[in-house]
Amino acid sequence: MPYPHLLSTLNLGFTTLSNRVIMGSMHTNLEEQLDGFVRLAAFYAERAAGGVGLIITGGVSPNTSGILAPNRVILSRQQHVAEHRLITQAVHQYPTKICMQILHAGRYGYHSQIVAPSAIQAPIVPFIPHALTENEIEQQIEDFVVCAGLAFDAGYDGIEIMGSEGYLINQFICRHTNKRNDQWGGNFDNRVRFPLEIVRQIRQRFGDNHILIFRLSILDLVENGSDFDEVIKLALALEKAGVNIINSGIGWHETRVPTIASVVPRAAFSGITAKVKKLITIPIVACNRINTPQVAESIIADNMADLVSMARPFLADSDFVNKAKADNAEAINTCIACNQACLDHIFVNKVASCLVNPRAGFETLLNFEPTSEVKDLAVVGAGPAGAMFAIFAAQRGHQVTLFEHSDKLGGQLNLAAKIPGKEEFNEFLRYINYTLEQSTVNVKLGTSPDLTQLNKFDEVIIATGTTARQLDVPGAQHSTVMQYQDVIEDKVKVGNNVVVIGTGGIAFDVATKITSPPPEDDSFKTKQQGFATHWGIDLNNKNNGGLATAVNTWVNSKQITMLQRKVRKPGAGLGKTTVWIHRAELKRNNVKTLSKVSYQGISDLGLTVGIRGESKILTADSIIVCAGQQSHVTFDVNQFKQAVHLIGGANNVAGLDAKSAIEAAAWLAAKI
Ligand code: NAP
Ligand code: SF4
Repeated sequence: MPYPHLLSTLNLGFTTLSNRVIMGSMHTNLEEQLDGFVRLAAFYAERAAGGVGLIITGGVSPNTSGILAPNRVILSRQQHVAEHRLITQAVHQYPTKICMQILHAGRYGYHSQIVAPSAIQAPIVPFIPHALTENEIEQQIEDFVVCAGLAFDAGYDGIEIMGSEGYLINQFICRHTNKRNDQWGGNFDNRVRFPLEIVRQIRQRFGDNHILIFRLSILDLVENGSDFDEVIKLALALEKAGVNIINSGIGWHETRVPTIASVVPRAAFSGITAKVKKLITIPIVACNRINTPQVAESIIADNMADLVSMARPFLADSDFVNKAKADNAEAINTCIACNQACLDHIFVNKVASCLVNPRAGFETLLNFEPTSEVKDLAVVGAGPAGAMFAIFAAQRGHQVTLFEHSDKLGGQLNLAAKIPGKEEFNEFLRYINYTLEQSTVNVKLGTSPDLTQLNKFDEVIIATGTTARQLDVPGAQHSTVMQYQDVIEDKVKVGNNVVVIGTGGIAFDVATKITSPPPEDDSFKTKQQGFATHWGIDLNNKNNGGLATAVNTWVNSKQITMLQRKVRKPGAGLGKTTVWIHRAELKRNNVKTLSKVSYQGISDLGLTVGIRGESKILTADSIIVCAGQQSHVTFDVNQFKQAVHLIGGANNVAGLDAKSAIEAAAWLAAKI
């Protein structure tokens, strides 16, 4: 059997999990849609069909004070149970277990009714929480117990109690947020009374035959967080109180340390899970940045954890486990940890989906059904839009020919993969190459078809992408001026005094590239430790919530200034969940930004800009143009005799990125 440790069963006594793979909890925003539970049922059922051993739902709150934002889902009354049954029945068609996560946001709720152990405002929320009275704490515990009972009524195999990530329970556990001096605060025993009472009372009322997972923060990554001794003491107390499985929680949401973005090395935090595992007897789950069966297998084989949890990888590929079982990991559409369509969507109240798999979250709406009318389709351009369109359309049974003028597939994805911290894009390129190879698509690299050739097809899809916008100022051809593609591909040597024109996604990528050290030794261990040193993480969690002093192990010698004409925060178009990381890195590298500039000309002296009514020369030995994109369409679409479709950058550059290009490709492929 491939991945023998990962795919082995786990016997919990009263029930058995079919393998060691958990689809971790993740909010999808589907709950809040009109037909949300029908869509959620289809979403989870597809993952169950894909072979995952255990699913943990997105967080469900036990009462109104515990919701994360207005209109979020609550399970507090019998009347709420029926809609949850849609989910459990759909999942139980397969040998997959499902647990509902109970999440009380505490001071992280984005509304005015929030509560917490103490009235201390969270840095990421504009509301001050009400400090719970002792009676109110008892009521909160009762609400957790009632919620658990309703979840069991709804057919869930168990529950996960969310005790990490800085939510209410975590707020009780840590001195960071618990300043009480009654029996619920002060010393350790008092601070952990709240979670332990919740667990004890649930077990007391509903018995032992339900899975009870506790998500325990093993590394808070905030000041005055728990230390390792406290983590172990609480884990052992939870075990005694009746918890079956400990899930590892890493980092509060307010932490200044990245915990899930692509800059985090794979399995970066599994080492601390392994340390906890040694001291407890119940199974423990490793999580965060685990995205391949190989990494997951090695964690279990090396006895670092008993189970592995992945959330985003199941958005990227619902069939992850089945493909692993078939020993066909190459066919897995790997999560690249970009956050662009999942977490970033949640922050703007959109349904969570996936950049590499736009069907995620849209299982009832976006389907690639076999076509009743096979068409001969020409796709011009094999960037993300063209390549993914070809894959989806061929899946439906269309005959597809994919033309690409260059010698490789993937277009600008090839540039993204060269940016330090974005190497996971290589996985998406691997998936595209492999899937096209296995498909019926006729791929023609190094080919630019003309109108006569294209006119032989039933329909034509133009996915020729974009070209970089050129700088339109006197001296734009000066030898110091460089195009971003050449910089990213190391075709030019960048000097030490650099001006970057633009502050968008590509300008950030370029600045990251030129301020990063040369590719380091990429051994698993070195990367983990290097990451921890760079971001100030004490992976032994000796004190202070696992925080240590961040150390600059690389000194950037370049002076860099990024310029924009508008007045807005640089990188304003980037996703909320990752832009802060990029900004922090550029700040560390002393990258300066100038806004509200006008470009006047380039000479041997440098770039002349207008700023605050004056002209100023910015001396520069390298001026890198990252001034946005323009649609690149080499055909007059009116000359085609058949239907022509423009997708991705060829259609529109406003708001364009790989995510929107692939999404457009998918919807067209589903209906063509
Ligand atoms: P962009 O994000 O639209 O940024 C274009 C930049 O060029 C802006 O800073 C703009 O600033 C400047 N600009 C526009 N017209 C100009 C002109 N005529 N002369 C000089 N400067 C001009 O575009 P991009 O950086 O090319 O990125 C393309 C797309 O890929 C974007 O949607 C981006 O979000 C996405 N992307 C995303 C990531 C990611 O990590 N998520 C990474 C790379 C790219 P002013 O107009 O203020 O001067
Ligand atoms: Fe992973 Fe990106 Fe898809 Fe989110 S959008 S699941 S991070 S690949």
